Parts: sequence; structure tokens; C-alpha cells
Amino acid sequence: MKRKGILFVVSSPSGGGKTTICRELMKWSPELNYSISVTSRPARAGEKEGKDYYFVSEKEFEERRGRDEFAEWAEVHGHRYGTPRKFLDEALSSGKDIILDIDVKGALQIKDEYKESSCLIFLLPPSLETLATRLKKRNTDNAREVEKRLAKAKEEISFLKEYHYVVVNQKLSQAVQEVQAIITAERCRVGRIKVN
Ligand code: 5GP
Repeated sequence: MKRKGILFVVSSPSGGGKTTICRELMKWSPELNYSISVTSRPARAGEKEGKDYYFVSEKEFEERRGRDEFAEWAEVHGHRYGTPRKFLDEALSSGKDIILDIDVKGALQIKDEYKESSCLIFLLPPSLETLATRLKKRNTDNAREVEKRLAKAKEEISFLKEYHYVVVNQKLSQAVQEVQAIITAERCRVGRIKVN
């Protein structure tokens, strides 16, 4: 019996532990495919083209958007990010599951367009103070950038009610286990099975 593919959207304010958790999930379940976004943001040290993101110019981003190549897109911290539609559609039609590490605006667009094929998971930091400490420790952004990200975090958390699940990332190993449990349960839902 075949199962329909699922789009697992994982959002959290930056510093919420999303990237680490997504990496752990990919190791845990080889059937999960990571959706690599296109971005107009310059690559950070250590980031690889075609692994972390597809890095493009503003102009190229706009051209692709004009050709409706993105299933969703959003401007985050002054840069543009989009999810290639073709990858999602091909994976879904062959019954594969996908992890999307995208922001709240993007998540809502995916929920709207892909409806029952999507499952939205929000990772919450234990508190805003913890988030501020994590952002400062990460040290890739300057103080103004940290303030901007904190303000954005508050705004994002206000969209929590639109999500299907919430996991508080107090302890990484437990948060990973909880997301794994969500994925396992979602895969077992009756509506996911294709009869014949
Ligand atoms: P960063 O620049 O730190 O890698 O990502 C900044 C934010 O953009 C994160 O919240 C990340 O989840 C989000 N993001 C990354 N790719 C996409 C995408 O394709 N679409 C949307 N809407 N957000 C994205």
C-alpha cells in the first residue's frame, strides 16, 4: 500500500534550534528530503551552494519569482527566500516526505496551497531570554541584527495558533524525539494511505 508524501514545515525564530533539529531528523529518517531554498542573501562562512541554499542575485530571484518557480517566498531580514515548487511537486507525487525550514509567512503559504499534504511544526525557544542568549552566542550577526531577530521572533510567535504542532526546544534530544513522534504519527494517519 502506498502513502502520500507529506510536507513537514519546521519554523522557529532564528536561534530556535531549527537547523540542528532538521539535521538530526534527516539522519534519523533517510526517507526525509530537505527542501533547499533559493535566497538572495549572501552565503555565510561555511555555507555551501546547493546544500544549505541556492545563492542567487536579487535580479535572478525576481526573474524566478516572475516565472512562478516558487511554491512560497518571503522577505526575511531584508533578503528574499523561496522554495522551488518543482522539487516539492515531484517529491510529493512519488510519495516522498519533505522537510522545509522556512519562516512563518512561507509556512502559511504552504498550508494554504498544499492543505492536507502539509504539517506545520513550530519550535519554541524556552523563553525570549534564552533566545537572546543563543543569538548572541551564535555570533554571526551584530548587535543590531540580534535586536531585529528578537523583534521578529515575537511577531512570529504570534502566529503559533496557525500551526498543527508545537515543540519547546528546552533540551535538544527531547525536542528531536518529540518531532520524530509527530512525523511518525502523521505518517500513520488514515488519510495518508493511498488505497490501491
Ligand atoms: P537564515 O538567513 O538565517 O538562513 O534564515 C532566515 C530565515 O529565513 C529563517 O527563519 C529560515 O527558516 C527562513 N527561510 C529559509 N528559507 C526560506 C524559504 O525558502 N522561504 C521562507 N519563507 N523562509 C525561508
